Amino acid sequence: MPAPSPAPGEALLSPRMSGICGTDLELLHGYQDFSGVPGHEFVADIARAPGREDLEGKRAVADINCGCGECAECLCRGQAHCPNRSVIGIRGRQGAFAEYLTAPVANLHLLPGEMPDRVAVFAEPLAAALRITQQIHITAAMRIAVLGDGKLGLLTALALRHMNPDILLMGRHREKLEIFQRAGGRILQTGQEEGSAPTAGEDGTGYDLVVEATGNPAGIEQAACMCRPRGTIVLKTTAQRSSSFPFSRIAVQEQRIIGSRCGDLDLALHYLQYGLVDPQPLIETVLPWTEIHRAMELGAARGSRKVLLDHLGGADSPAG
Ligand SMILES: [Zn+2]
Ligand SMILES: [Zn+2]
Repeated sequence: MPAPSPAPGEALLSPRMSGICGTDLELLHGYQDFSGVPGHEFVADIARAPGREDLEGKRAVADINCGCGECAECLCRGQAHCPNRSVIGIRGRQGAFAEYLTAPVANLHLLPGEMPDRVAVFAEPLAAALRITQQIHITAAMRIAVLGDGKLGLLTALALRHMNPDILLMGRHREKLEIFQRAGGRILQTGQEEGSAPTAGEDGTGYDLVVEATGNPAGIEQAACMCRPRGTIVLKTTAQRSSSFPFSRIAVQEQRIIGSRCGDLDLALHYLQYGLVDPQPLIETVLPWTEIHRAMELGAARGSRKVLLDHLGGADSPAG
């Protein structure tokens, strides 16, 4: 493909490292009707920034939501929910699995010089995990469970632990749960069989907050079962398939369901810079980006951790 040329206010970016996300796999199955180049988790060099030449040659990550900047949503609440937005590598805008992409200069966040690419590439998913802290007032006294030991579930558990010491991470993969356990967290491995996970008692016990990050449409049912009456369920899963969820339970239990998507990249970079979350145990492997087909297969394999693509050098080279 020819290199894109940046529109006014945009920069031309050259990816250094990118990550494969569950959303990329969903896109392959028709999510968002996307066609083009995916890739929304990335670290890039700013190759050209017309009018902002001072940025050229610097490393950056980018907020993937590109709003119109003119509608009420953009003007009042930011571009994340602009009805006319494009989203890098997800909706109406080419992504980072390429030699070049463009992004609005306003969306760029420069990286501290010492942060390795393989850490900075987690800024986007970590921001999505930390989004919960901007939606809910989390206290140390709350009972919190995170469902799903995938990349987002793990990052969420690791990030929320700074606000609450006793978070339970539930999932099916012992190795991935142990990443959280080694960081001092509490884990519960659940099996395939029904009823292997805890449910809230009839006496009003149960979790104050349940984060559903299983990537599975049936996860919300489990979350609702574990959540106490009047408790809160945060929905992170964006799986396209539908579930036959019994919503009457939510009404009877007066539970709140909060959708949660992208977050604040500066907050995520702060967590990464000061080592509040170390994402490196989440890395499955680093492949040269030309091996993207193999990388997608690895990323889709059950229980795989984060597969990263190195756009600069060879496999497992110490990029950055
Ligand atoms: Zn993602
Ligand atoms: Zn707008």
